[in-house]
Amino acid sequence: MSSTATPVDHAALRDEALPLLQELLRIDTTNGNETPAAVLLQRYLEAAGVECELVARDPGRADLVARLRGTGDGPSLALLGHTDVVPAGRPADWTHPPFAGHVDAAGWVWGRGAADMKNETATRAVTLALLARSGFRPRGDIVFIAEADEEDGTAKVGLEWLVGVRPDLRTDFAINEGGGDRLTLADGRTAVLIAVGEKRTLPVAVSALGEATHASRPTAGANAVPRLARLIDRLAAHRPAARLLPETAAMLEALTGRPVEDLDEAARVAAAQHPSFEHTIPALLGTTVAPTQLAGSAARNVIPGRATVICDCRLLPDTDADGLEAELRALLGHDVPYELEFLEEPMGGTVSPLDTPLYDAVRDVVRRHDPDAVLVPTLSTGFTDSHFLRQAFGTVAYGFWPLRHTPSEVVADGVHNRDERLHVDDLGYAVALHLDLVRQIGALGG
Ligand SMILES: [Zn+2]
Repeated sequence: MSSTATPVDHAALRDEALPLLQELLRIDTTNGNETPAAVLLQRYLEAAGVECELVARDPGRADLVARLRGTGDGPSLALLGHTDVVPAGRPADWTHPPFAGHVDAAGWVWGRGAADMKNETATRAVTLALLARSGFRPRGDIVFIAEADEEDGTAKVGLEWLVGVRPDLRTDFAINEGGGDRLTLADGRTAVLIAVGEKRTLPVAVSALGEATHASRPTAGANAVPRLARLIDRLAAHRPAARLLPETAAMLEALTGRPVEDLDEAARVAAAQHPSFEHTIPALLGTTVAPTQLAGSAARNVIPGRATVICDCRLLPDTDADGLEAELRALLGHDVPYELEFLEEPMGGTVSPLDTPLYDAVRDVVRRHDPDAVLVPTLSTGFTDSHFLRQAFGTVAYGFWPLRHTPSEVVADGVHNRDERLHVDDLGYAVALHLDLVRQIGALGG
């Protein structure tokens, strides 16, 4: 393996990817209408000789599966990209319209999905097309999946459904959204993030119990509302003792530059390395509890015997409902009568290990293209479709779309907000690194 990147023309790669991204941006796939986007990608890939298949549970919401067949004696790799986007809000709030694919004179491409994640979807399709055109034959299959319905997921037409009906989509490895940010740390080093897992979501209803009565005589009965207020204070103040997973230990070690001895101290030093870590790192070291929705009396003149708060709880991947219940009961105490109810099954919460050939390959690629950067594993506090691959197939799935030209703040501000945009040079950079990564994985033996 050479220690430097093969010289590649990033501008040519950008110019290949940009028109495809612009066309994708012009298709309004606001959590629906993904079929035209899947067909666009299909036509582009078939023109490069890649075999493609539209797979749809709902004809308007097709997924695309494209495959570059390998010789069958090496690990397989999936490249993922969701084709849907979140609502754009009021177009008048945007500097450039959200579904126009506008590129400005300074080299920014604007639109809903420019950073989440039609940019990734387009560049992964380009990667596969360029490899096919060059005659590249991997050892394991390279599969490109452009999936619908990631942003909502309730329609069950995207990856969660697809992995159930298509066991042939099992791959050893996958690259998806959720990582690749490039940050300048407070100590002067450069960090490139790779997302190796995510937390688990489990909403819970906490109901304070009392005795209903007429509101004109509030000393009679027992008002559940002030009782609930006491419970909410405890829920909102919850700061569990920090706890490490192997992956978060590796994250803190990379950020602090030394092994973790005092965890609270390591967390404090790591969080101070970049403003984006201030609230993220504490959230990755334990359960978070956010009281968000309230219900008291149904009538103004009735003191309620029951008042409820719904909490958005996010658990570490190794915590289950029993673990959360024990944590909440210890927190809520014994002086206020209450009931706990889990509102859904736990959702998400899978993590891929770091000692894998895919992790090594990403690290090698970053070393070749960005020699002074350190690769930092992170977990996501949110959710990505990577979970469904890990859960269904045991796939090692990471979030990695390398950014070099767009400040991570610009991405963070635009995603799920107005004025989502990306610098076009990041398209060329991302294709170059994906080509390098796929070639390295495709050369591995089984
Ligand atoms: Zn996304």
